[in-house]
Amino acid sequence: AAEEGFDVEDVEDAIGEAGHGPLPRLAVVGRPNVGKSTLVNRIIGRREAVVEDRPGVTRDRVTYEAEWAGRRFKLVDTGGWEQDVLGIDASVAAQAEYAIEASDAVVFVVDATVGATDTDEAVVRLLRKAGKPVVLCANKVDGPSGEADAATLWSLGLGEPHPVSALHGRGTGDMLDAVLEALPDAPKETFGGTGIGGPRRVALIGRPNVGKSSLLNKLAGEDRVVVNEQAGTTRDPVDELIELGGVTWKFVDTAGIRKRVHLQQGADYYASLRTAAAVEKAEVAVVLIDGADSISVQDQRILTMAVDAGRALVLAYNKWDTLDEERRYYLEREIERELGQVAWAPRVNISARTGRHMEKLVPALETALAGWETRVPTGRLNAFLGELVAAHPHPVRGGKQPRILFGTQAGTKPPRFVLFASGFIEAGYRRFIERRLREEFGFEGTPVQISVRVRE
Ligand code: GDP
Ligand code: GDP
Repeated sequence: AAEEGFDVEDVEDAIGEAGHGPLPRLAVVGRPNVGKSTLVNRIIGRREAVVEDRPGVTRDRVTYEAEWAGRRFKLVDTGGWEQDVLGIDASVAAQAEYAIEASDAVVFVVDATVGATDTDEAVVRLLRKAGKPVVLCANKVDGPSGEADAATLWSLGLGEPHPVSALHGRGTGDMLDAVLEALPDAPKETFGGTGIGGPRRVALIGRPNVGKSSLLNKLAGEDRVVVNEQAGTTRDPVDELIELGGVTWKFVDTAGIRKRVHLQQGADYYASLRTAAAVEKAEVAVVLIDGADSISVQDQRILTMAVDAGRALVLAYNKWDTLDEERRYYLEREIERELGQVAWAPRVNISARTGRHMEKLVPALETALAGWETRVPTGRLNAFLGELVAAHPHPVRGGKQPRILFGTQAGTKPPRFVLFASGFIEAGYRRFIERRLREEFGFEGTPVQISVRVRE
């Protein structure tokens, strides 16, 4: 039925767009300055699927949603990350390793005007070992005269080099066609939403020294997460199965928790790569925060990664055994001030050292996952929206009053809503709606994504 100016197709399109399942992931990898960021910007254009306004959250985005020829995928952008802390070779290798673990296919960008360097060759070896599909992008081919440079990159042994000018757009379409061919329809880890999908996947994340490996040890009940790295040469299984509360949980990417003794400098950079990889693979993230220490920008960035990725979230304040009364007082003030944007996340105050409140972790995980999977029936949603909009109309702007006409939940994991409106809905009003949705329906432990469609 044509509801207030939206026809059935509008509505179905909007739901289809907002309600997709997990998307396949494409990583863009390459040396600094080859044009990765330029390429990513060209692919995503201005088009970003979810509009979110969360003031006070540091933007540190790693993945974007992109679309080509009607197919949607996630684009993992490593271009904006600090490149120099580790030295070029190590940081590019870390990036490639991340791409291998967290993506389904890789675009490997080489600067065709420079040709293949030793670093490029090293990355090729890593990519080849991993066996992921790779599309070779010969960038900076701004005109026909550069095609010959691109052709020399056949020597890398990755198949056809696709001549591209990320800057001007030349050749990007053909390259993206090749990308779509390489990309599987669904990501390698699919969400077990049917109840038969295997153990729930948990990422234990937080800045260095908050106690991630201590907690994992405590939960596993033995000291099996020991310092045991032969300079990163062996690839150990990265996921750990642990039984808690009679249920088996999969703690993903636990290799990242192990101590990388050989990485002295740049450990933070490396850690952020691993965090992003773990978050991508998980359904729920436990963000550890050192209760004894001030909440930092780095804590915020890690939280933002989990929220932006749309994962369920549990906050664990660790080292509770060291907190005196005064520190506890100030911690609460800091939490109010710094972490208001994730006030919806269940919280546990734990000590990985003494085992304090370990038993509270599972209920918190279950609460967050339940919120993440919540579905609100359309009838209930619209009854709620109708009352809300009547009681609290959008402010009048330029003589007009934009109105929310109706809404629908387009998906879960996390809950995604599409609201249809008669005019532009301001960010403040969107936040107000989100707040009321949470009051009404719970959504404890989950981000809620709201997009608004305006009638043409
Ligand atoms: P990243 O470090 O790999 O992310 O590289 P950037 O995207 O930041 O690009 C590095 C430099 O190369 C910038 O000055 C870009 O403008 C330039 N660049 C990127 N793509 C192209 C291209 O296709 N042609 C030319 N001529 N320059 C490019
Ligand atoms: P990670 O870098 O996040 O894996 O942190 P670790 O698990 O290696 O812990 C860093 C340091 O904090 C180590 O010295 C731990 O013994 C200590 N630590 C971890 N959890 C606790 C805790 O709950 N209480 C206290 N007092 N110390 C802890």
